[in-house]
Order: sequence, then structure tokens, then C-alpha cells
Amino acid sequence: MSVMHWTNVDNHSPSKFNGQSSETLVPIRKRISKRSEKDLKQATFKQLYKQNKLAEIVTKAMENKEGLYEEYDEIKIQGSILRINDNVIIKNGDNNVEDYIGTIQKICSVLEPQSNKLICLCKVQWYMKKSEIVIHKPRARCWIGTQEIFSTKTNDFILAQTIIQKCTIVDCDEFVNLQNCDSTTYYNRLEWDVENKKFMNMNEIQLYCLCQQPWNPELNYIQCDKCQKWYHFECVDLLIGSYDDKDYVCGYCN
Ligand SMILES: [Zn+2]
Ligand SMILES: [Zn+2]
Repeated sequence: MSVMHWTNVDNHSPSKFNGQSSETLVPIRKRISKRSEKDLKQATFKQLYKQNKLAEIVTKAMENKEGLYEEYDEIKIQGSILRINDNVIIKNGDNNVEDYIGTIQKICSVLEPQSNKLICLCKVQWYMKKSEIVIHKPRARCWIGTQEIFSTKTNDFILAQTIIQKCTIVDCDEFVNLQNCDSTTYYNRLEWDVENKKFMNMNEIQLYCLCQQPWNPELNYIQCDKCQKWYHFECVDLLIGSYDDKDYVCGYCN
């Protein structure tokens, strides 16, 4: 049974960041690509599909002169039309792991010549979720919201059928002001450097409170009536609700 389980994961989950460190990834990737150039010509579409080598399927189909490869502006999945630049939630093969978020960059199909079956693919640019970031930045757990996602420069081909539905991505200010938002509304204010495991534009983000952290829409803040600066209730030793109608003056202004 456990063998079946892992086979399943390999076939259906996108090949996103398989957890290898960049040190080990470089030599491995080089060795494989050297071998796969020759292998790719011999491997059948079916073999590549079974190994979840979707980018290789696209390359092989594009090199083929019989028009096996086609690109589209839109695709219908689960009854709704998806277009290039739409943000989508993508199923992870393993039920224990959260779904992925990505932006559709390309919609294409490959006609498998032996069976005449159409393989529908999307190239997506990935966003990272809180759970994936705090592994590398544990202290960021305090200010990253549950609906916060981080843009990346990493992309992959995925099977179109692994797309679950469209989602909405707004900026942080817009998210704070949203009247009603469901679990498919996310916000993005920072880019994540996948290779070096760090935030790209942290210096552009405003920091708040004595603890100097980015705004977390899920925490409670109080504003000083003199300097107009915002503080976490906890950081200035206040109980939430204790200052609802009263003026608050922070320690610096008092
Ligand atoms: Zn604070
Ligand atoms: Zn103040």
C-alpha cells in the first residue's frame, strides 16, 4: 500500500521544489540533463508522462514536426473558463499537504501520437504559502497572515486537470479593507527568492510597533493619538478592548 501511495504522489503532484538544497541540486541537475538529452529522443510520451516529466513532454512535442503541440488563450476546467494570467488553486497529490497557488502563464496541449489522447498542460508561476516560508524564516511566523502568499520567479508545467479553481490575489492594503473575503482570497506584498531562501524586497515594507514587524491583518493594533504610530496591544502591555473609547499615548510621547 505504501508503494502505491508514493507512486500516486509522483504522478499527480507538481514537481515543485522537491526539498533538495541548492548545493545538492546543481550537480544532480547537470548529470540528469546530460543524460536526458539523449534519453528524451528515445523516451515515448507515455514514459515521460508516467515519470511526470511534463516540461520534457512539451519540449519533445514542440520539436516534433507533426503539430503535436498547440497553445491556447483559455481552457475550460470544472465548468469554468480559465485564461492566461488567472490565479488558480492547484491540487497537491498528497492530501496531507496544502494546495498550491499559481498564476497561469501558458495553456497548451500535446497530442500523444500513439493513443491520440490530448494531454492538457498549464505553465504556472508559483506563489509560496506561509507554511513553506516559516520553515526557513521561523521568526516571520508572527507577522505572516494565513492568507498571505509570496510571489516567486519559479515556474513549472502542471496537468490542467490538477487545477481546482480560480482564486483572488490582492495587495495587503486592499486585503485589510476587504469587507468579506473567503478562503480563496489571498494577499501578496513580498517576493520570495526560492534559491537563496530569503525575501526579495523586505526593505520596501513598512514596519510597525516596538517589535518592528510588517503589518499582520490578523493581529490587534492600537494607534498613539500623538505620534499616530501603531503598536501591538501585547507589545505595549495592554489588554485588547481596554482602550476602545479612551485616548492612547505611547511610551515615547508620554
Ligand atoms: Zn509589536
Ligand atoms: Zn506616540
